[in-house]
Amino acid sequence: MSYSWEPKWIRKKIAVAEGIEIETCYDASTGLMLCPLCVNVSKVCPSTTEPTTVIPENVPYFFSPEDIVYHMKTHTKAIETRKLYTEVEIEEEEGEEEEE
Ligand SMILES: [Zn+2]
Repeated sequence: MSYSWEPKWIRKKIAVAEGIEIETCYDASTGLMLCPLCVNVSKVCPSTTEPTTVIPENVPYFFSPEDIVYHMKTHTKAIETRKLYTEVEIEEEEGEEEEE
């Protein structure tokens, strides 16, 4: 790979709409976010504190939660909505406890 960009992916909860949060990968160096359905968040960003420098290929990157939501709606047209929520919930349960 000949990328000069070195992302710092951490697991982050992002409020995408009122009362709705998704947990996905957030690049602490650029502010980019990933779609949790397009990437395997447990591989790209297994931790909320220890960043990874994985560069996922052939996936979209997002700068705003609105863009992610808009994009994720395209998934729900292709797959069942249930699957979307199942995947997100599994990641949360297996992730670190995060009290705020
Ligand atoms: Zn996606």
